[in-house]
Amino acid sequence: MTSGRNVAILGGGMAGLAAAWRLTDPSNAAAGVPNDVGMVTVYQRGHRLGGKAASHRGLNGRIEEHGLHVWLGYYDNAFRLIRQCYEQLDRADCDPACPIQSWEDVFQAAPTIGLEDFHNGDWKTWTAVFPPNDRKPGEPLGESTSVLAADILRQSVKLAATFLQSLDGPKLELGTSMALAGVAEVEKAAGALQPILPAFGGIQIMAEMVRDRLKPVVVDNDSSRRLWQLFDLIVAQVKGMVKDDLLTKGFRSIDHIEYRDWIASHGASRETLEGALVRGLYDLAFSHRGGDPGRTEFPAGLGLFLATKTFFDYRGALFWKMQAGMGDVVVAPIYEVLRKRGVRFEFFHRVDDLVPDEAGELIDRVELGRQVKLRDDLSDYDPLIRHDELPCFPAEPDEGQLDAGSAVAGAELESFWSTWPDADKVELVRGRDFDDLVFAIPVGMARHVTGQLAQGSPPWQRMLESVETVGTQAFQLWLKPSEEELGWSAEGSTVTSYVDTYDTWSSMSHLIEAEGWPAEQRPGSVAYFCSSMRQEDVDDPTDLGQPGRASNEARQAAVQYLENSVGHYWPNAIDEDGRFRWDLLVGAAPDAGPEAIDTQYVTANVDPSDRYVQALPGTDQARLRADESGFANMRLAGDWTDCGLNAGCIEAAVISGLAAANSILGLPLDAGVSGGYRT
Ligand SMILES: Cc1cc2nc3c(=O)[nH]c(=O)nc-3n(C[C@H](O)[C@H](O)[C@H](O)COP(=O)(O)OP(=O)(O)OC[C@H]3O[C@@H](n4cnc5c(N)ncnc54)[C@H](O)[C@@H]3O)c2cc1C
Repeated sequence: MTSGRNVAILGGGMAGLAAAWRLTDPSNAAAGVPNDVGMVTVYQRGHRLGGKAASHRGLNGRIEEHGLHVWLGYYDNAFRLIRQCYEQLDRADCDPACPIQSWEDVFQAAPTIGLEDFHNGDWKTWTAVFPPNDRKPGEPLGESTSVLAADILRQSVKLAATFLQSLDGPKLELGTSMALAGVAEVEKAAGALQPILPAFGGIQIMAEMVRDRLKPVVVDNDSSRRLWQLFDLIVAQVKGMVKDDLLTKGFRSIDHIEYRDWIASHGASRETLEGALVRGLYDLAFSHRGGDPGRTEFPAGLGLFLATKTFFDYRGALFWKMQAGMGDVVVAPIYEVLRKRGVRFEFFHRVDDLVPDEAGELIDRVELGRQVKLRDDLSDYDPLIRHDELPCFPAEPDEGQLDAGSAVAGAELESFWSTWPDADKVELVRGRDFDDLVFAIPVGMARHVTGQLAQGSPPWQRMLESVETVGTQAFQLWLKPSEEELGWSAEGSTVTSYVDTYDTWSSMSHLIEAEGWPAEQRPGSVAYFCSSMRQEDVDDPTDLGQPGRASNEARQAAVQYLENSVGHYWPNAIDEDGRFRWDLLVGAAPDAGPEAIDTQYVTANVDPSDRYVQALPGTDQARLRADESGFANMRLAGDWTDCGLNAGCIEAAVISGLAAANSILGLPLDAGVSGGYRT
């Protein structure tokens, strides 16, 4: 036991790691943060960190992820943490051979987004390149801004004016001058829009007139029709914001309403409601209740807020893609710095239960299963390997460091359904092993490991019942031809709102360099596909066949997608009989059929811990803040908490971890957090 308060962090995903980051931040002392933190220990099942953001290296150094991960340009807090991490890692001095030296080496701007427009029975890709700006993601605190309802109004009116000016054919003078007048008013109002709101009523009526008069004119022209939908969406949103008084009440005041219902109630047309723009929002956020593509749901306020942050408040680029696996260039470096700071990592420790004291005020004990023991001569497990000098997580535990040796192969220690017998049981006792806990295990898994706690805590019970998760499926392809040879011209783009299974894909050929292909097998292109997954049977611990069935479904869906849908993007991957050319996959034989999918990487994320945390209307109130566990010695971290940005994303996970640590340090929850997420 060290001096100071010992902290046990349960779960080593981005939220748990961010909590450890803030608790051990060397700048705390200089900033006058009262810091009596002693030993910080992270308990993690299996051999890897990162959770839903984990990745590992497979055959030929292939990067294998849970699914497509991009960082959005507005992720100030996550980017700031990574920038600090690379500064402190100081690879120039400590690891000069490593190919990723700085945070700038980690990310590449990805400004191109595609939406799938379904019109007159045909899919058409609507590609937009969002212009770069000279802002940098993750600037120091104070240099980042927050988005308020007033900003959305301002940006919306400007966008509407730009749209009207851009129509070369059917330009409506009245509409254009009206919109420009709106912009002038908004500009004049500078900070405070409240006084000019009454004027919006008049502008609104004219905007609706313009919209209705334009509709028949633009219907046959793809780009005008799409822009019209954007205009229609903006008009409905502005109307709703003014009518529902979001300027004073804030976005969260309408989070109990479904986004599509909300814009419909403010006049959005059927075409817009069913159009690519709106579908894209749901697809990118896996917002299908129960994985059913027909049940799209997202909170109205959050939808409005995130759309604005994403499209109007990005730094540098709309999206940023990593130059290797997220496990390699984000998770491993954070682990390395935390180790240097003295944080301990207990791998192969699976949390089974949390036991409250008799008064129900403190957590007394944490019960864990130790999945494997380390070799007698080792005190810590080293989780990293080097791939071409880059520290990475391997796909399987390193048997050489384990007592169990090679017997552990295939034990699936990261699975809820693993039948591997524990080496022993471990108990963490309050006062002996920890003073404070950070519960950074996802809500899906919390249902299975906090039974005792839920019994005595109605808010906890309500949170478990209300915050929903959804399974996801993903596959990655390595193809022999280049993207151009396949017939795709928007290299680097991320495309969404396509068919129900695997609605989203991204061109990832930039990763070929980071993998380890022998020259004769080197792929010409790489692509990642992803979507939510419909699941009838969820989380039955006795149903050991569940993960296998889900994997098989994800595999079948991938085969069907390639057979039936991918030709829209890659016409040259289809033969003269209209069939997908399986021989184009790296590793496939010349006469290969659908079984060649097994040469690629397919995953079904249905483990309770891996299921994506959804933002659903009306569930906000059931989320608990970092300091609302109901137990004085336990803080909460994870993208399922009420961290202000209540959506499943890396930025939310990081903010939540910082908030949990802030609470332990006696700071306001949002100390050192930027972005105005509690609006
Ligand atoms: C397919 C997919 C694609 C995504 N794409 C994006 C994207 O493009 N951009 C973006 O910003 N976000 C994306 N996300 C969301 C993002 O990955 C998550 O929001 C984030 O990683 C959540 O972090 P977390 O720490 O809250 O939870 P997790 O990452 O789930 O971490 C929880 C940790 O707890 C551990 N754990 C669980 N149970 C136990 C136990 N009993 N004992 C011990 N340890 C345990 C887990 O192994 C894990 O390490 C995506 C998610 C998915 C599933």
